[in-house]
Amino acid sequence: MTSTTAVALTANIYVPAEFVAEHVALYKEFHRMPELSSIEHRTAEAIEARLTALGIDNFRSGGTGVVGLLTNGEGPVIAFRADTDGLPIAEATGLDYASEATGVLPDGTEAPTMHGCGHDTHIVSALAAAEYLTTHRDSWRGTVVLLFQPGEETAYGAKAMVDDGLWERAPRPEVVLAQHVMPERAGKFWLRAGNMASLADSWRVTVRGRQAHGSQPEASLDPIVAAAAMVLRLQTIVSREVAPMTPAVVTVGTFHAGKKENIIPETAEFSINVRTPDEDVRAQVLAAIRRIVNAEAAASGIDEPTISEINRFPRLFNDADHAARVTTALEAGFGPESVLPLPVGMGSEDAGWLGDAIGVPVVFWAFGAYPDEAFADGASPAKNHSPQFAPDAELAVVNGTGAALTALLEYVGA
Ligand SMILES: [Zn+2]
Ligand SMILES: [Zn+2]
Repeated sequence: MTSTTAVALTANIYVPAEFVAEHVALYKEFHRMPELSSIEHRTAEAIEARLTALGIDNFRSGGTGVVGLLTNGEGPVIAFRADTDGLPIAEATGLDYASEATGVLPDGTEAPTMHGCGHDTHIVSALAAAEYLTTHRDSWRGTVVLLFQPGEETAYGAKAMVDDGLWERAPRPEVVLAQHVMPERAGKFWLRAGNMASLADSWRVTVRGRQAHGSQPEASLDPIVAAAAMVLRLQTIVSREVAPMTPAVVTVGTFHAGKKENIIPETAEFSINVRTPDEDVRAQVLAAIRRIVNAEAAASGIDEPTISEINRFPRLFNDADHAARVTTALEAGFGPESVLPLPVGMGSEDAGWLGDAIGVPVVFWAFGAYPDEAFADGASPAKNHSPQFAPDAELAVVNGTGAALTALLEYVGA
């Protein structure tokens, strides 16, 4: 006779210890094979294999996106999204399952890769929730559309899936659910109505002047001086044009020009990252950037610079009614103090577009995956995108899966 120990995913969802162990092992497999945005080929194949083994119909969408259709008779249609990409970071966690993988960046250079944002926890939580639902068909009815979304870190993935006809092939859901691991205690969540992240835009500005010898400035149109003036003047958008109580960020993150001190170069190039809370402020700030860049070029007597988009993150906006519904469900599953009222940050996420594109509400929450010891004596664990970012494997699987099932069963539960 064999006996299995039950593990509580939530106050009312129990699974055998083997179920958790199997998914922790699966998590470590994904952790060892992070792939860069929109080239998550092996990841997509592994997800497809798993869905197929569970008997879940699936298809590709947006290149390396995978959609699973888990059906169980008549009932609500709910979408659940897990993003799948890793980052160009050299992992420094020292874990025995740390990544040693590499990937090729868009510019052709090779870089070490890491699941430094924890998207591997999202993949496995969605797969584990799917497995639970396939083996507990009495407990629910309806359709769960599983969205394994590539390219979150570059904001291309959700759009790629939608543009590839996602919602022509998958049934229209009542709500799109999504979650993200965060450096918080296990069993804690961050969820609020309204903005969960900021809109974000990244632009590249190429300033073209006229090259000349460093000793002959009169023969040049100096792009460095012009671009430097642009960068300084851009600082006045947030301080002088946006209302004081409105959050906005304009950061110039790169600036490259020239090869040698005695050559005035032909071009200078810089990139700008913009964070805004809504479409009106976005339009205002982006228009101000264009105006300043062009006016400073005119002041320097050079042509209008080329401005190109690097990426554009849509809003991530939680519908108030659905956010309240998921909050109540999480509090029932994880305790009355489990949902934390954290302030909105200036991070960005493209999950919202999966619902916004078809006018379907979205609920996005973050979940903690760290033991209490990680916070002892005022310590705080490394944050997402740090080379030391290391959610606890078992706590991530248990809490990610528990939260996914809690929210899904709130809608499709029998
Ligand atoms: Zn990230
Ligand atoms: Zn992320």
